[in-house]
Amino acid sequence: MEPNKLEALAEGLWSGDRRDLSRAVTIVEGTRQEDREDTAALFGRFGIRTRREALRIGISGAPGVGKSTFINRLGTTLADEGIKVAVLAVDPTSERTRGSILGDKTRMADLVGRKNVYIRPTPTGLSLGGVPESAKDTVFLLEQAGFDIIIVETTGVGQSEISVANLTDIFVLLIAPAGGDELQGVKRGILEFADIVVINKFDGDLKEAASRTAAEYESSMNLQPKRKEIPSAHPKTLLISAILDIGVDDAWREISDLVDWRKAHGYWVAKRQSQERYWFRRGIRSALAEMLERNPTISAMIGEMEDRVLNGVIDRHCAVDEL
Ligand code: GDP
Repeated sequence: MEPNKLEALAEGLWSGDRRDLSRAVTIVEGTRQEDREDTAALFGRFGIRTRREALRIGISGAPGVGKSTFINRLGTTLADEGIKVAVLAVDPTSERTRGSILGDKTRMADLVGRKNVYIRPTPTGLSLGGVPESAKDTVFLLEQAGFDIIIVETTGVGQSEISVANLTDIFVLLIAPAGGDELQGVKRGILEFADIVVINKFDGDLKEAASRTAAEYESSMNLQPKRKEIPSAHPKTLLISAILDIGVDDAWREISDLVDWRKAHGYWVAKRQSQERYWFRRGIRSALAEMLERNPTISAMIGEMEDRVLNGVIDRHCAVDEL
């Protein structure tokens, strides 16, 4: 893109123009070499010292636990207070198309159409089960566009939570009441990343099951190593009903308290730095891999070596080593 167009795009984005924001997000989601160059040039327009930062909240959970209902409630409350809220929906379980943008909009009916709310699904493309690097970039663009709170929603399939935990400040795990005594649908490893565990559907017939589920999670988490970045050493467990709007404000208070505590105790900056390191290294790795693949000499060598490996001429590890 021509430098003056890029400048105009950056300015429009900074002033909160939605069309420019959407155009910029499309650029960072692009996979062409040109998109990557534009991304780097665009990011460079935002001064390191003057760039804006938002509170980034990750909300994760299996399909059907009530993520949209919860985000709809929380987002509406915040938006009513004049806070600018963006929701980035990452769904590695389905291929999102234009149609699902509408899907997101009906899922969060009260949020849609509000002046200070922006909802965006993110394509997961080729990053199997994970979160594409573009999600991190989109969070950055949303911050530069002036959003105060960015909610990144993801559906529980393991790898994606880990990446989402790596691009958010506070990671909330949403759980629905379960019948059995096992930790339903949640890989235990994910608990390591959760900062707050919210048991939803604490209402009607599900109330008792919700309390039981909360108790199970609490005891399971107490077995985990103590976490120094959480004042109580283990994530708090909250019981809420998103649909009846019971406890959603408590969940918000818990999030805000944790933010304040981390800022006061030096964990805030440390976490952001380690996340920055994760994305920087990930960026380097993918840039290097791409550079190698694009190089005709090297890609021919890879092809030749692959033939030799497949034909049993050379061992796979030796081939990698030689390359
Ligand atoms: P998501 O897939 O995690 O986004 O879940 P949804 O928000 O779409 O909710 C899935 C289903 O659970 C819907 O039928 C909701 O109406 C219902 N649901 C969401 N929150 C609650 C709640 O607090 N209590 C009850 N009983 N049902 C809920």
